[in-house]
Amino acid sequence: MTNEIYDLLDGGRLLPLVEDFYTIQGEGYHAGKPAYFIRLGGCDVGCRWCDAKFTWNAKLYPPTPIRDIVERAASLPAQAIVITGGEPTLYPLEPLTASLKDRGLEIFIETSGTNPLSGRIDWVCLSPKRQQPPLPEVLARADELKVIIETPDDIRWAEENASHVSGHCRLYLQPEWSRYREIVPVLVEYAKANPRWNISIQNHKFMHIP
Ligand code: SF4
Repeated sequence: MTNEIYDLLDGGRLLPLVEDFYTIQGEGYHAGKPAYFIRLGGCDVGCRWCDAKFTWNAKLYPPTPIRDIVERAASLPAQAIVITGGEPTLYPLEPLTASLKDRGLEIFIETSGTNPLSGRIDWVCLSPKRQQPPLPEVLARADELKVIIETPDDIRWAEENASHVSGHCRLYLQPEWSRYREIVPVLVEYAKANPRWNISIQNHKFMHIP
């Protein structure tokens, strides 16, 4: 991140907010848990199948005071926060996460791992992408490795990443949504043969919730 952007965002006291909402986490280790989502704009990873392309251009999302975001989150019964994007690690997250922690909230982040992590984060969900592989430091910090599988060949990419995470990291294979029917049978057989992997399904899409 350039100093110019850092100054513009007042060191992270302003962030390009796309949307924030209270819902149920649909996928990965925390699937089924009520959580307040904070979605930040900006991503340069460029996944073809990205279901949040509207977030890519951070300039569409004016810098928003984090105190407003935190007040909204804290006004609800949510106990967990999911910081997502876009790619939320593009921004300094110390002020936001410190303020959320002051309210006693648990903080999860969803990242492709292309930038260093900042702030107080309780759970790192790393979803690595081939075109911009994750930083070694984020692989080492991941609590959850969630690899999107579009073709069976992506399983090799998943294994490559799994060889760099810590022993406590949970491993998930998640079918790319538009290829769900074709890929699920492949993943079922793979997980049965390699039971350190679990399968993650995007439950929120079946529930028709954000
Ligand atoms: S890293 Fe995430 S937000 Fe960025 S393009 Fe890929 S899926 Fe979309």
